[in-house]
Amino acid sequence: MLLLLAYGTRSRKTSGLIVSGRNGNMGQRIIGEYEGSERGPLLICIGAMHGNEPAGVKALEMMFKMLEVEPIINESFHYRGKIVGVIGNTKAYAQKKRFLEKDLNRQFREMHIEKIRQQDKAELENEDLELRELLEFIEDQIRTYKPEKLYILDLHTTSSRGGIFCLTTNDDESIDIAVNLHAPVVKGFLKGIRGTTLHYFKEENTKVPTVALTFESGQHDEPLSINRAIAAVTNCMRIIGSVRVEDVENRHDKLLNEYSKNLPKVSELLRRHDITPEAQFKMRPNFKNFQRLSAGEIIADDINGPIDVQEDCLLIMPLYQTQGEEGFFLIKETTI
Ligand SMILES: [Zn+2]
Repeated sequence: MLLLLAYGTRSRKTSGLIVSGRNGNMGQRIIGEYEGSERGPLLICIGAMHGNEPAGVKALEMMFKMLEVEPIINESFHYRGKIVGVIGNTKAYAQKKRFLEKDLNRQFREMHIEKIRQQDKAELENEDLELRELLEFIEDQIRTYKPEKLYILDLHTTSSRGGIFCLTTNDDESIDIAVNLHAPVVKGFLKGIRGTTLHYFKEENTKVPTVALTFESGQHDEPLSINRAIAAVTNCMRIIGSVRVEDVENRHDKLLNEYSKNLPKVSELLRRHDITPEAQFKMRPNFKNFQRLSAGEIIADDINGPIDVQEDCLLIMPLYQTQGEEGFFLIKETTI
């Protein structure tokens, strides 16, 4: 078991307030809430935005248990701000599917959100209902806590193996957090696709200064993907000043550093390969995240034949599951 923070002296003094925890109800959206005695940023961590990615939810469940224990065994521990864990797509999570009808992490488009807000909630179903409820939940958190700063950390895993990484917005702080998390950073993702949490969670929409980033903690079913997600949340709490450096185990840095040591620190999206069910896309076997590809290399097939890459580049998120709208993403190494 990976401990969250450095366990110090034993005392019963508590500095944080547990508002609520989760009892393993699959249909429940909230994973947990923890509010510190000192005011500070609101950190909202989302797990299972894709229902077949349980690692983020499991990591957050453990995080709230550890936050409950920490003040009891480390009397100097205190939390600045509030952290909330929430499930993105509750119905897909209950069914262990990426989505039911459409990818929830492609629906965060202002026009679409405006439309579903106008509709009677009873008429909404599947991902539209999930989107509306998730947004209402987050807005309620902002309304009640009234933070000066909002951070959104969206926890994901990939169907392929080989490497953790952060997807950031173009915001300097988003990139800065990602670098300091000790995970490779992939920039320029926003231009690749539409309607993700990274596109939507910004001040214009939340009415509070907002920084968003996505952390990919490894392959869906790898047990260590949970540990790496815990490490990312812990490091994020430290970077935004919610927990003190001395209260955090350096094993979290070590775990992420070890897993990303041979990967490029910063890279940028070159292009994505969109797919439709009719295209019958199939990735060729054994490709991994951050695999180096040479111009002309064939990596997949579809109804039109083999698919090759046009230039030397790196591969991320080759699709090895049936549901998905992108077959793979190509990136190249760059600097901040
Ligand atoms: Zn995902």
